[in-house]
Amino acid sequence: MKHIAVAVDGPAGAGKSSVSKAVAKDLGYTYIDTGAMYRAAALFAIENGIDIRNDRAELISRLDEIKIALKNENGAQRVYLNGKDVSERIRQADVSVGSSDIAVIPEVRVKLVALQREMAKTADVIMDGRDICTHVLPDAQVKIFLTASVDARAKRRYDEIREKGEECDFEKIKADIEYRDKNDSSRAVSPLKKADDAILLDTTELDFGQVTEKMKELIRNVL
Ligand code: C5P
Repeated sequence: MKHIAVAVDGPAGAGKSSVSKAVAKDLGYTYIDTGAMYRAAALFAIENGIDIRNDRAELISRLDEIKIALKNENGAQRVYLNGKDVSERIRQADVSVGSSDIAVIPEVRVKLVALQREMAKTADVIMDGRDICTHVLPDAQVKIFLTASVDARAKRRYDEIREKGEECDFEKIKADIEYRDKNDSSRAVSPLKKADDAILLDTTELDFGQVTEKMKELIRNVL
């Protein structure tokens, strides 16, 4: 039986993960956060003292040591790196920047894309990332490009962090997002771009509930 795949791409902070997660739960699909995989790979480099920008050869020679697993536990997705739960650690700012740096390395992408395609064979999925519509699952039945202005995206990240009771600086968050936008869109391999046949959903003026409903409507219409 062929499974259903919903592919969602877009820049950092567009709301892909939270919306995809909610829609997956409502529709009974499996949510796959591919960004978490790049983050886990970046954490491996950080923990092993590998400078991602300058020690590329060493990183590539050690790719087989990176084992990433996404597990659903009590309705929440947990991310494991070599058997250790790193779900919270990979959301820190150093890993965010590192994930964007590691994502330009073709060998890293080949490894993670293979894993993502295997996962999509086993269940009905909503998979989000930067190259899902264009490269990972070009035959997905539903393709969505979710975006919002830089300011709206930075403000959402800022609110998210503040809600957890942590301190943060809006301008720093915005600068990190702009850095990742530039890196993700300008890299040679699988850059972030809207697939020609993806539906554009600009969420700048929409709240979480509206975006979730809109995405479900798009899925219902296409299927
Ligand atoms: O989505 P998230 O912000 O967690 O992704 C972290 C980083 O991983 C992104 O900035 C991007 O560079 C990279 N990424 C990617 N391709 C994907 C998913 C994420 O290059 N499919």
